[in-house]
Amino acid sequence: MTTLAIAPERPVSLWPAAHAADARRPRSQQTKLGASDTVCARRAGYLLHGRTPTDTGEKRKAILGTWLHAGILDAAREEYGWLVERRVEDQSVRGHIDAVQLDRATAARLPKRLRPTLPAEETTVEDVKTKSTYQWDSVLRYGASEAELRQVYLYADLLGTEGFASVRGQRQLAHLGPVPVARIRFRFINRDNGDDHVQEIAYEADRARRARWWVQQVRSAASPEELPRTFQGPGISAICDHCPFRTACWGPIVAGHSPQSQLIHDDAERVEALAEYAEVSEQIKPLKDRLKFLRAKLDGSEPGIYGDNALKWSGGNPTKVDDVEAMVSMYRRAGLEVPMAPDVAAMKATLKEVGIPVPTRLDHDRRTAVSINVTASKKP
Ligand code: SF4
Repeated sequence: MTTLAIAPERPVSLWPAAHAADARRPRSQQTKLGASDTVCARRAGYLLHGRTPTDTGEKRKAILGTWLHAGILDAAREEYGWLVERRVEDQSVRGHIDAVQLDRATAARLPKRLRPTLPAEETTVEDVKTKSTYQWDSVLRYGASEAELRQVYLYADLLGTEGFASVRGQRQLAHLGPVPVARIRFRFINRDNGDDHVQEIAYEADRARRARWWVQQVRSAASPEELPRTFQGPGISAICDHCPFRTACWGPIVAGHSPQSQLIHDDAERVEALAEYAEVSEQIKPLKDRLKFLRAKLDGSEPGIYGDNALKWSGGNPTKVDDVEAMVSMYRRAGLEVPMAPDVAAMKATLKEVGIPVPTRLDHDRRTAVSINVTASKKP
């Protein structure tokens, strides 16, 4: 047999293959509402109404998260006998729970081979979230977001009311019937350095009802456009920047105007937005001043852990500048002609010294940043 080894002319990027494989995953093709699709009401509406995504966006981080997630859950299943990636559903919503830790009494109702190595004190639904270092401080301070809580409450509620779905590979689990959940656990993994952080909360029926109500609102909308945008749009929210329905939701990007500008239709709305802008500016001014004062107070404090907070300093290093003298010597050594550009700074200084205005011209290719300036208007 002849084996043909085709050597590519240059290194081939693996990302097109990763994106293609990701697009074929069942979750990427799902049109029925999944618990993990409940991040934004409008986006859930697009999915539920079977709208075709309008944007592809950057998915590399999400794909890395998916791979890491799958590897971690596989290890937990193989080493600890965890029940991972188990499907739950009813007529309106479905999802895959990352891990279910059954309590001793429930685990004892399963055939021996399916019982976990260590039963939990109380039945717990666990969700693994991978995060970047950039998001880590928020994870430690505030824990799971509203959307993450909603997703896990939906899983827990489906397990408590319907039990495990009766599908291939988990029929024995389905025979348990509804499995009441007592605890929810988030396991956050930092995908840059491997740190992990666990957040546990007692299951609250009221929160589960609120998550169900959210889904009902999405399902009862006649069109996605009737549903509120949960996030503030491209350029402000990273979720919108990477949303597959970004153009459907906010329209095509028009140069020179932010997508949010379409939310103001007339002067009445302009009056309202300006009033709110002035009010918010007034509210944040004392906070900004306080932050400046506290920053000044902390100047000179050694880095370290103080109470609930870690203090670190960054920056303060000498900056790199072009070493023109070294460049000139290198050119001369190489026998190259040293370009003699006019010394703009010296010419400006001389003109200023003798009191002559420095001549300027408009450069239409470069624009100054547009900044807003809101002041109190004079009453007529
Ligand atoms: S662009 Fe933002 S607000 Fe619109 S559907 Fe997507 S996530 Fe929701």
